[in-house]
Amino acid sequence: MVYLKTEDEIELLRQANLLVGRTLGEIAKIIKPGVTTNQIDKLADTFIRDNGATPTFKGVPSPYGGPFPASVCCSVNSQVVHGIPNDNPLKEGDIVSVDCGTLLNGFNGDSCYTFCVGEVSDEVKQLLKTTKESLYLGIKAAIAGHRIGDIGEAVQSHCEKQGYGVVRELTGHGIGREMHEDPMVPNYGHRGNGMLIHNGLCIAIEPMITMGKRDIYIDEDGWTIYTRDGQPAAHFEHTIAVHHGKADIMSSFEEVEKIEGKLY
Ligand code: MG
Ligand code: MG
Repeated sequence: MVYLKTEDEIELLRQANLLVGRTLGEIAKIIKPGVTTNQIDKLADTFIRDNGATPTFKGVPSPYGGPFPASVCCSVNSQVVHGIPNDNPLKEGDIVSVDCGTLLNGFNGDSCYTFCVGEVSDEVKQLLKTTKESLYLGIKAAIAGHRIGDIGEAVQSHCEKQGYGVVRELTGHGIGREMHEDPMVPNYGHRGNGMLIHNGLCIAIEPMITMGKRDIYIDEDGWTIYTRDGQPAAHFEHTIAVHHGKADIMSSFEEVEKIEGKLY
């Protein structure tokens, strides 16, 4: 069941997502070699709660293990998504995808950014650049009258053209009062296929792109998804609302880019 949102609901969705953007901005300030993902998690948890919201990932049940123990997912290098924060210090040249969810005034924020730790190889930077570009191409395709497959096609063709893998098993999703609502928003597809996009459709678009093959596996912790070939993966996510015919981006990378500069 797809719930199209009203103007008022879109504004509430925006507030929850702007808080995610600000949280990612706070995280950008501390990312450097030596910092642990537990430190990132702690900062995010405090910042989200200080701003009157709840971190939505904490306690989410898994069909493969216990509830998610942390407030953000931190996925390092060959971890694609759902990495559990720990006490291992990040190293120069690592990448870390921080996926953050908030619940504020009954609505959900959901956005992810892949950060560089110190100086990262050009090869990895290219992966990040392409993944981020594909996110914005997907967003551009999310207009009223198009179909969900147009979004997937835009992401997939951009990434596969450069030889990268597009993860199939995990997708974007509808978002609103629930963190995950219908429809699923795959990062692959064909133009003109899938559900028709209407004004009021609110979705998270989130390409998960691998440097090597697209095959993944789930760790025995029941959460962490890894690339099977051990190559790095990138993940960028925005929540958008289809508003006045086109995609209005609810979340924000502005705060991150203020700190990081526009690396790509
Ligand atoms: Mg997310
Ligand atoms: Mg999401």
